[in-house]
Amino acid sequence: MNTSRGTAGIPAVNGGEEVKRSLYDLDPGQLEALVAEAGEPPYRARQLAHWLDDRRQPDPRRMSDLPGSLRARLADRFAGAGLTLERHQAGDGGWTHKLLFRLPGGDAVESVLLLYPAGRARATVCISTQAGCAMGCTFCATGQFGFTRQLSAGEVVEQVARVSTMLPELRPRPDAPDHLTNVVFMGMGEPFANPAATWGAAWRLHRGFGLSARAITISTVGLVPGIRRAATEPLPVNLAVSIHAADDGLRDKLVPVNRSWPIAELLAAVRDYVAATRRRVSFEYALMAGVNDGVEQADRLGRLLAPLRVPGSGGHAAHVNLIPYNPTPGIDLAPPSKGAVRRFRDAVAATGVPVSVRANRGVGIDAACGQLRTGAGRPGRGAAGHPPTPPGENGARR
Ligand code: SAH
Ligand code: SF4
Repeated sequence: MNTSRGTAGIPAVNGGEEVKRSLYDLDPGQLEALVAEAGEPPYRARQLAHWLDDRRQPDPRRMSDLPGSLRARLADRFAGAGLTLERHQAGDGGWTHKLLFRLPGGDAVESVLLLYPAGRARATVCISTQAGCAMGCTFCATGQFGFTRQLSAGEVVEQVARVSTMLPELRPRPDAPDHLTNVVFMGMGEPFANPAATWGAAWRLHRGFGLSARAITISTVGLVPGIRRAATEPLPVNLAVSIHAADDGLRDKLVPVNRSWPIAELLAAVRDYVAATRRRVSFEYALMAGVNDGVEQADRLGRLLAPLRVPGSGGHAAHVNLIPYNPTPGIDLAPPSKGAVRRFRDAVAATGVPVSVRANRGVGIDAACGQLRTGAGRPGRGAAGHPPTPPGENGARR
């Protein structure tokens, strides 16, 4: 943990309190204290907040309407805080981008930008909430890597800011969207195992960055206390639950946390969530050949989820998202054939539950969901082949 930073602006790590590691971890009062310390009037703090939230610019050196002395002071003060872009990979003809950010303390996380052409005109960023993950799902690259540390709320928000400011230069064609439209908490880590940062970031993205709650999706492996909290949060973000199996025997093997919160308890929490929020929930199901792709699993899944209904309208509250498994080095699993995917989809649909197959994106650059891992996780470990790429106009494309 980074305990060395003890300045007023970035309090050192301290038990219980939220950790501050990015300019985005400072609230308006702390921004004011920061500029006051530099002998600047309070309106400078509002200018700073404008850069951070409206312009999504975390780099003080680029805050052009601040006095040069303040910019230099902030840059110096926050040198080593926040995220350092270390690697950028483009895939799918420039429609998918994977970014590796180094964190203070040496760990790293990945964020993925998914662009969709005009018509759909979506630009979704997939962000990480933890370096690694402690949940140990047997099919997941991040899970196999293990957990190294929590991100602060500011570090989660800063991923969105960094991708936002890079987006104009990453667009492969003029008809690609020029601003972020969606944020999904589906990168590295389990968001509900880091609830302070997850909810802190979700609120900042909504209030500060102006994203509607419906443009934000949080994906959980099924931590019941987290789902229960989501039911009471006044921010109506979308919830995705990674289910992957329709019986406890199989789910125990794929998702070890199922032993703590088995399927019945998980679905009871989702039922209460739907009753409280009247919102639909998506269920993620990574299809693995010969493991969980049989039509009997599909039928069982459909029958488990079909009773989930939105109060009032009576419409289905569950939507199943099938993700053909993204092959992962070191893990002996493969996606089913197209025919098997279709048969699975049709068997779910036969129960009446809405179901779709998610397009595989970023496979060539290991940027698809669940392929995120910090192979370059620690300094000196695997990072050598990838010299640091400076953030900025031309540093990004490789
Ligand atoms: N920890 C959270 C969010 C991050 S994982 C969660 O588990 O929901 C994002 C999604 O990718 C999850 O649904 C996860 O199960 C899925 N996933 C992980 N590895 C995968 C792989 N190799 N192929 C396809 N999906 C995968
Ligand atoms: Fe963690 Fe999600 Fe991977 Fe499971 S699937 S190990 S919860 S990131």
